[in-house]
Formats: sequence, C-alpha cells, structure tokens
Amino acid sequence: MDGIGEGTLVELDPIDALGWIEMDDGTRVRVGGTALSRVRPLPDVGARLRVLETTLGLGGVIKAVRVESLAPPPATPAPQPATRARTSWGAFVSAHPRWSDVADLCLTPALEAPPLALAPHALFAPWFHEIRETAPIVRPLGIPRHDDPRPVEAARDQSFALGDVAFLDVAEWPRCGRCAAPLELCVQLAPALVAPFFGGGRGFAALFCFGCGTQHRDDPQVGHVGWVRGEHRVVRPAGAPTRSSRPACGTQAVSAYAPLRELPSVYWHRCRAERRPELASSALFGGDELALDGPFPPELERALAGSPPQLLSEDVEALFEEWTSELPGPVPPGQHSAVLGGVPSWDQADETPSCAHHGEMRALLDYEGGQFLDGALHVFVCGACDRVRFVAEF
Ligand SMILES: [Zn+2]
Ligand SMILES: [Zn+2]
Repeated sequence: MDGIGEGTLVELDPIDALGWIEMDDGTRVRVGGTALSRVRPLPDVGARLRVLETTLGLGGVIKAVRVESLAPPPATPAPQPATRARTSWGAFVSAHPRWSDVADLCLTPALEAPPLALAPHALFAPWFHEIRETAPIVRPLGIPRHDDPRPVEAARDQSFALGDVAFLDVAEWPRCGRCAAPLELCVQLAPALVAPFFGGGRGFAALFCFGCGTQHRDDPQVGHVGWVRGEHRVVRPAGAPTRSSRPACGTQAVSAYAPLRELPSVYWHRCRAERRPELASSALFGGDELALDGPFPPELERALAGSPPQLLSEDVEALFEEWTSELPGPVPPGQHSAVLGGVPSWDQADETPSCAHHGEMRALLDYEGGQFLDGALHVFVCGACDRVRFVAEF
C-alpha cells in the first residue's frame, strides 16, 4: 500500500520500540522500531510524522514501514510528478534476460524437495525456467506460541527455543556487549538439522539483547549468534530480566517440517531492486512505474482490453501474484514460524550484510519465535568462510 499521509506518534513502548501513529484522518497505523530508527532525530511521543509506505502486519493491522519526520519541513523543491517509463514488452524482455539474483543469495542445502508446482505462464515464459529452478529449498520450523507451550528438556543434540538453558562453547551464559545484561535465548538448532545447510557438523545458537537490539539491530555485541559445538551446558542467571515481546517461559520444542521450495515474494524482489536494478524482477516490482506496450503473447493479448494493449507494472505484479498464489508457504499452523534457508522475510528493506572478503552473505535462518513482533532475526553466513552476521527487525 502507498499512501498515506500525516499523523502524530501517540504511543511508543520504550522497551520494544513499537508504537502507534494517529493519522490526521483519525485512523491508527502501527509502527515498529525498525521504521522509527531510520528517522533522525529519533521521534518521541507527540512527534509529527509523514507515513510514506505501509504494509499489512500481523492480524491485518496496517503497519508503517517507511516514515519521515515532519519537522523541520523539507527545504527541497517540490518533486516533479512521476512519469512512467514507457517501453514495449519485447524490448523489456530483451533488455532483462535475468529474472533475479536469488540463486546467488541462497544456500543450496543437501535436501530433497518436490519441484515447484508452478504451471507455465504466457507473460513470464521468458524467465519461467529460471524462476522454477532457482526457487530455494527451505526447511520450515515451528516455535510454540505462548498460549500453546510445548516444554522440553534442553539437550545438546536437540533443537529448542527460549528458556534459560543452552549448549554453547563458552562456560558462562553470554552477556550483551553494550549493557552487560544476560542475553535471552532465541533458538538453538541441532547439528543434524542445520548440517544440510552449513556449519560442518556443528549446531547453531542465537541469543539476543532485546534491550539494546531495537536500536543496534546489526551490532554483533548485542547478540551471541553462531555455530556451536555445545561443550558447555550453560544456564541463564536466575532472576535476570527478560525484555523480548514474549513472556518468559521454559525451554520449548522446535518442530521441523518437510523441506519445500519457496518462491521469493514480490516484496523481496522490490527490496532487492535497490541493489540490483538491472534484473527483470527489480524493474517490474521495484517501484519505478512502467507502462509496457504490446505486442504481448497472443494468449494474453486477447484478455487485455484497450488499443493498443498496454500493461502497467502494477498489472504485471498482480498477474505474478495471481500466478503464484497457490504455492504452499512455510507457515506452520498455530505456531510462530522460523525458516532455515531461502531468502529473508524483510519487513522494511534489504539489509543483506556483506563478508569483507567474499561479498554478499547468504540467508541461513529467519527466526521470529514471538520475540520479534512482525519482524525477525535474520541470520546470514558467508558460504565461503565461517563468518556469521545478523540483522534484527521489529
Ligand atoms: Zn544490551
Ligand atoms: Zn567470507
């Protein structure tokens, strides 16, 4: 959704940085710490904000993904009205032989998954083979909700989430490098579960400081995130406060579901367009408005009204979403989802980190677990070296 308008920040939770904007037309829009953290100076309750872009959040709530401060007023001249770039479909296809760079950004796990059940489509035929073959194999995980707990005993060779026990390579429970508070456990994954993706037979653990993490979302000091051999059973200091958006609870079982191939969403391609504008998916979904003239494939031309037939980029997007809408997604019923592999479910913008030596990193894990609101802890590995990085969104 675009939109939108102006309003006032009327609520802001200092802990999870989640708030509400009351728009001048009386509607309320939810806003998370990630969107607010991009505004300088950081807004407080009472701040006037312009909402530039929204999305549908959990439960159908309208959520602002891009906001800007209304004070001081911008000194830039009024923007020119956008004009649509106009080109023929044939010329567009010739100029954009490659659909996306998803294959460069995904791990290719040693797992079998059924082929993507995607029928050919007349419009997307030039890229059909690439779209189908590059759909990454993901392993969906389920994290119990707080109202349906599934307590288990933490064990070194098991996958579990939350709680106060972990199996790490350090003898003491890790603390935040910024505020020194004991971190909170997000998830620990068994070696056997992550081995098909990466890690050389090690397990994986993610612990996070929810006090500092909303402001310092990719600071390595606010998390203890990486591969573990799990030699030490460590216990979180008793009574240490928890500040994630989920009530404290004991260790919970992580369910792993059958691997499947998952197409990146239109929104992922849109986020990606800033970095790779030359790709077909970036040009079509990236937000620059296009007017595409025929001729189109004959099957499609018959369905298109108007003379000469024309497709706007939003029409192409609607056709793509309709085409791919029947594909299964990795959403475990009645649980919070986490996903091994695939592409990150960005809530705001593409923030794929880079390895200093080997370029953009690959998505290992997206973890929400009831702790990250509509966002997630996005974890990346280099693929060529042992580096692990994370970016949190709320
Ligand atoms: Zn901290
Ligand atoms: Zn590297």
